[in-house]
Amino acid sequence: MCHGLRLCKCCEARVVEDKLHFVLECPAYQDIRLSSTKDNNFQRLFRNAADVVQTDEEGKLLSFFSTVSQDALMRRIFNLGEDLLLAKFILRCLEHRAECHALLIGG
Ligand SMILES: [Zn+2]
Repeated sequence: MCHGLRLCKCCEARVVEDKLHFVLECPAYQDIRLSSTKDNNFQRLFRNAADVVQTDEEGKLLSFFSTVSQDALMRRIFNLGEDLLLAKFILRCLEHRAECHALLIGG
């Protein structure tokens, strides 16, 4: 296996862990994407960048879709002017990723 291509260890998809998978796709981080607290309204990133958002009756975000390519969606997210929120989102995901990897080593 090429060392440049690491499979994602946080989900069962057995796909290469690239930035698109990490930010947009990986189901392991979906709860984080959909979360919104007063200080860390991560779902705002995806609500604002996606074309279609699915919510329940109370307006709670359930999922989001885009009609543009993943690359284009990624550019939107990075160009929202939400740099601090984006940085916090990535940090939160990296913490979760470290937990996934620690569990793998431990188990
Ligand atoms: Zn994954």
